[in-house]
Amino acid sequence: MFKKILIANRGEIALRVQRACREMGIASVAVHSTADADAMHVRLADESVCIGPPAARDSYLNIPAILSAAAITGADAIHPGYGFLSENASFAEIVEAHGIAFIGPTSQHITMMGDKIAAKDAMRRLGVPLVPGSDGALANLAEAAEVAERIQYPVLIKAAAGGGGRGMKVAHHAGELAEAWQVARTEAKAAFGNDAVYMEKYLDKPRHIEMQVMADSYGNVVHFGERDCSLQRRHQKVLEEAGSPALNAAQRDALGETVTKALSQLGYRNAGTLEFLYQDEQFAFIEMNTRLQVEHPVTELVCNVDLVREQIRIAAGEPLGYDQSTVTFSGHAIEVRVNAEDPETFIPNPGLITTFHAPGGLGVRVDSALYGGYKVPPFYDSMIAKLIVHAPDRAQAIARMRRAIDEFAVIGVKTTLPLHRRILDDPTFQSGDYTIHWLEKFVAGEA
Ligand code: ADP
Repeated sequence: MFKKILIANRGEIALRVQRACREMGIASVAVHSTADADAMHVRLADESVCIGPPAARDSYLNIPAILSAAAITGADAIHPGYGFLSENASFAEIVEAHGIAFIGPTSQHITMMGDKIAAKDAMRRLGVPLVPGSDGALANLAEAAEVAERIQYPVLIKAAAGGGGRGMKVAHHAGELAEAWQVARTEAKAAFGNDAVYMEKYLDKPRHIEMQVMADSYGNVVHFGERDCSLQRRHQKVLEEAGSPALNAAQRDALGETVTKALSQLGYRNAGTLEFLYQDEQFAFIEMNTRLQVEHPVTELVCNVDLVREQIRIAAGEPLGYDQSTVTFSGHAIEVRVNAEDPETFIPNPGLITTFHAPGGLGVRVDSALYGGYKVPPFYDSMIAKLIVHAPDRAQAIARMRRAIDEFAVIGVKTTLPLHRRILDDPTFQSGDYTIHWLEKFVAGEA
């Protein structure tokens, strides 16, 4: 087992990984920018190293600085968390080339899944159902028009290198295609330095359902069921749950079998998530994330598993040690992402947290690096906490989340907690019957 793990991240996920390390008796190294010198992940770490100025490109994305920190502290593994360098294949490769274990998949699989066109090709070959669309990148607008006629409008132009909902534009009819084509490519070039785009049928009423998978280095693959992330704003997840209110156990098992078979054929290793759109009883693969995801706690609660511990064990060469039959699902879990944002305009609102009081009680988990007196810096993602609840069924989980939100005091900055409270009070949310488009309408006062 590893002796010391460097955590190449910040905020709640750095703490999350640190907690797993401590329980496993592994020392951890925190890295931080100058803006994060007082951050909780630094305060609680066994050791910490400053890796640069506030801007992420100079610190949390600064590969030489992170490698030097690992060398200086003698870390034998690096956990990348999510975001930052977690899906950077060359980072994974450089880390391993330095004789340090990368806690994640191989760089080849990161590269493959980071290119959504290559990912879809691979999944097609492995027999995973896809959203209808172009076979690979679109050469020009004329080809885009041809594919759109074939698959029928509305269509979505998506960036091959896409992420975070960027580089994605809908054309509802032929008259909108040229602009969608242009805007998607410009956005993709600006955000990812790559303007390759492809096309998918734009589904009008899908749910977002994803499968959590874990694989060891010996060909053993299990899934930990699905998460439903249909509540989204600007293609970004806002609230997630496990299991999906739209699926039954038989559907989960069937999808789980498809994805575990595919990943075992692929020789995949460590944690991964396959994302699907689900509409008219059909699943259609959209992308695979080759890292731990923000919403992993809902899975941990219903499966009673520590996914970070599993990631670390696998990276250290241990076998899974169990098979699918021992993975069980119990109750229902919901997570809300608490952002330091105005709950109506969504404008980020960093600043000083004057009071912080986390909710507690049965089935309540708070993953956050906040504390009273902490100043949320303006340089990074606005998510400041994840509030997660677990209860015997969905109705009780909703009741528990409502009361946990009422207990939660984050004073000093505006947060999205009031929005979450409104969502949880809404009959449509409570019914479980909504699509990925519902929240946008709800926020606009149209639902
Ligand atoms: P990103 O990597 O940028 O997050 P994804 O491919 O994962 O992009 O898609 C993000 C979200 O965008 C999905 O969860 C879904 O809400 C929406 N989306 C993606 N593809 C489609 C599609 N073909 N039809 C309708 N909505 C889609």
